[in-house]
Amino acid sequence: MIKHTLLENIKKTYRRMSDSAIRAERNPADIKLIAVTKIVSIEMIREAIDAGLRRFGENRIQEAQKKVTSDELRVTNNRIEWHLVGHLQSNKARLAVELFDLIHSVDSIELAVLLNKQAEKLNKIQKILVQVKLSDEQSKSGISKDNLLDTLSSIQGLNHLDIQGLMTIPPFFDDSEMARPYFKELCALRDRINELRVTGYELRELSMGMSNDFEVAIEEGATMVRIGAAIFGERAIKKEVK
Ligand SMILES: *Cc1c(COP(=O)(O)O)cnc(C)c1O
Repeated sequence: MIKHTLLENIKKTYRRMSDSAIRAERNPADIKLIAVTKIVSIEMIREAIDAGLRRFGENRIQEAQKKVTSDELRVTNNRIEWHLVGHLQSNKARLAVELFDLIHSVDSIELAVLLNKQAEKLNKIQKILVQVKLSDEQSKSGISKDNLLDTLSSIQGLNHLDIQGLMTIPPFFDDSEMARPYFKELCALRDRINELRVTGYELRELSMGMSNDFEVAIEEGATMVRIGAAIFGERAIKKEVK
């Protein structure tokens, strides 16, 4: 892809994000763009950095490691944030804590315990989101909403984790309107958790919305949208989303 297209895509994505925010009477500055760079080359990520992007999402640890530690992707002004958006296997917990600013995909107490232990060893407070499963698709991971309150209460006792919010991946629909009830539900869950003071502090973040449905997600309260194809092109991102 030529640089021109990448710039256009980024501008267009930001414009669509802010239009959706304004439709919902929200402040566009409250919504963060996480550019999902799985299968995207280091060269193209460099172009995205030069175009001003600073938050990137990856879904595989090995691939992410190459990119996070790459000299070509260093910037002198402003740090780059790396987000893990895909499922995390427990044997990769240590690397995940080493590499990522925010882990969106904490989907079990066991994983949280492991991350906490590694964070303690590395003397880090690891920021996390808890992934919630709102559909009954076999292929998706996440905590069911019935177990969410209990899980959050357990996790909040882990001193080296900072739970910042919730994440979800609704089923894929051609018509993004079909995803709206899932986004609404995640937002309602977060508000209820905050009302009940389950975690002892306020959960702010809602990571929801991808290329095909981020506008609806923003209308329903998303604070982070994870966007790959709309920025880097359909070609780049084919693998199944878990
Ligand atoms: C790939 C991926 C995205 C981005 O999906 P696009 O449709 O390319 O925007 C977002 N979230 C997760 C968890 C992903 O794996």
